[in-house]
Amino acid sequence: MRTLLSEKELQAGVAQMAVEIIAAYGERPLTIVGVLTGSVVLLADLIRLLDMPLRVGVLQASSYRSGTTRGQLTINSEMMLNVAERDVLVVDDIFDTGHTLVEVVAKLKELSPSSVKTAVLLRKHGRQEVDFSPDFVAFEIPDEFVVGYGLDYADQYRNLPHLAVLEPEDLANNRS
Ligand code: 5GP
Ligand code: MG
Repeated sequence: MRTLLSEKELQAGVAQMAVEIIAAYGERPLTIVGVLTGSVVLLADLIRLLDMPLRVGVLQASSYRSGTTRGQLTINSEMMLNVAERDVLVVDDIFDTGHTLVEVVAKLKELSPSSVKTAVLLRKHGRQEVDFSPDFVAFEIPDEFVVGYGLDYADQYRNLPHLAVLEPEDLANNRS
């Protein structure tokens, strides 16, 4: 596997994004909604850099998929906080086609928040299929399948401290 972003680079990008989030909200109370499971590492690092009054909730968005292709999306929000009349920031790992974030934002808007913004660690170049842009993006990356820093392949590699590109031959080796 080839390293795309080192631990140090990730840290710097997340810190920069935190500065932008603080500039946008100031000291206003914020409700973060992390999209499980890919956002857990980003969530842990990001919330410790934010100093406004903060609530943290999660929801799960999963598509029935195997490996690297996506299918029908389901959203489980049973574990989420009340977001009515709150400023909400949705945090996800990667903006790829964009369908996940668009559906999550639509679902949250049904719950009468004061505002909804979105923050992602990564945006993949040239992949978007939706007319929507995240408000905060730490890194733009090329169209390659990445793992680490929370992102998985078949539930593996989330614990890598850096971001790596999973090459086609890595995928072949994994199929055992
Ligand atoms: P989207 O709905 O924007 O296409 O992406 C939805 C989800 O697909 C992301 O939250 C992430 O879980 C997964 N995904 C998209 N691209 C990648 C990738 O390069 N690596 C990994 N591990 N997951 C990805
Ligand atoms: Mg995800």
